[in-house]
Amino acid sequence: MWAIIGTWHFSLQAIEAFAPRLAAGDGAMDTAVAAARMIEDDERVDSVGRGGIPNAQGECELDAAVMEGRALRIGAVAGFCHCPNPILAARALVDHAEYNLLCGVGADAFARSLGLPQQPILTEAALARWQQLRQQRQDKGHDTVCFLALSADARMAVAVTTSGMSLKLPGRVGDSPLVGSGFYADDEVGAAAATGLGEDIMKGVVSFRAVEAMRQGLSPRQAAEQAVRETHLRLVRGGHKPDNIAMVCLDKYGNFGAAANHREFAYAAAREGLAPALYPVEPVIDNQATALPRELQGLAGS
Ligand code: ASP
Repeated sequence: MWAIIGTWHFSLQAIEAFAPRLAAGDGAMDTAVAAARMIEDDERVDSVGRGGIPNAQGECELDAAVMEGRALRIGAVAGFCHCPNPILAARALVDHAEYNLLCGVGADAFARSLGLPQQPILTEAALARWQQLRQQRQDKGHDTVCFLALSADARMAVAVTTSGMSLKLPGRVGDSPLVGSGFYADDEVGAAAATGLGEDIMKGVVSFRAVEAMRQGLSPRQAAEQAVRETHLRLVRGGHKPDNIAMVCLDKYGNFGAAANHREFAYAAAREGLAPALYPVEPVIDNQATALPRELQGLAGS
């Protein structure tokens, strides 16, 4: 069995392109990274790679990570500024047993040492959108690209890449390059990855939480729903209104599912016997609801 799942509608093009390669025997890691790179290179996608919307000072700072599920090896970069393909640096770091996560100037120096192309990340379109958002004092939302892949040889991998929150404070790092929060993969169970406001996602360590729920026997959809709901409710109990949280899950059998606490999320997926398709996600709990979630009614004022 092979399978691949990606976040947001724009991952469909990469799934259409790379599902046949998984079917032909390509590896999980190569496929997840190639899919993420395709979206990084698509300038129309303004939340990742070239064309990503910059931080508050007009500079693009990218985050990316990969993880393979056999030996649990990780490669991640954060605050990556001079190369539009952070996923390639993250992939290369997996082969460096000594380090899991590089940030800022060190991450950029690592990319240079690999000979990765040093190119401007900021496009004219992203700059224009940034100016508009700045005038409106608005963040544009969160659309990290995450791919989870299962190859025919029963290996699993995850690749995530993002320009993070638009207009973020320089130096801000979200959940995406943080293992357990933005991503997790374990060949013995399954893989998970998240998209949404990193500051909320990392409080719930949602990707590890979902993989552990699958280990306990939940389906990918049930695991994703439990991780999103539990994190959302815990934040509400602490008096915090959760921002957007969404995630995708894939188990080692090729079953997939997703969950979100808002109405905008969709994902794309394909697997052996199932053509690439887009799946909208109904919120498991609604962060726009004005009433307290049913689970917390009766606790109000306590
Ligand atoms: N999770 C990402 C971050 O907080 C943003 C996103 O998913 O779009 O940086």
